[in-house]
Amino acid sequence: MSREPNQADRPPAAEDIPEIAREKRTIRAMVEIYCRAHHDPNGGICLDCREVLDYAHARLDRCPFGGDKTNCAQCSAHCYKPAMRVRVKEIMRFAGPRMACRHPILALRHQLRSFKKPKRKGTKSP
Ligand SMILES: [Zn+2]
Repeated sequence: MSREPNQADRPPAAEDIPEIAREKRTIRAMVEIYCRAHHDPNGGICLDCREVLDYAHARLDRCPFGGDKTNCAQCSAHCYKPAMRVRVKEIMRFAGPRMACRHPILALRHQLRSFKKPKRKGTKSP
């Protein structure tokens, strides 16, 4: 997919929103921790975990809260399909406590954001 040169009439891309970019990094770090502990891939992430990560990133790209978003785990929108929700939850439950030593800054920001209540916007995720 290539970008069109004229984007003036478009909303800001998800990757331009710092909260979204940070949440993507957080989820990627969590998936890496989980995958290394459970699947022992030869560097990187195994295909199963990559699928979860790609899905989570795709949902973030469509996040209706944008810069107002809280952590996906606290989000009221529940935009994940049930099967993916289960997998992501398992990854977060395992990697969450381990984030503090591997990625202290990301983990701290994640903690701080968990106190933030998402504002409901008109758009609802399907
Ligand atoms: Zn894996």
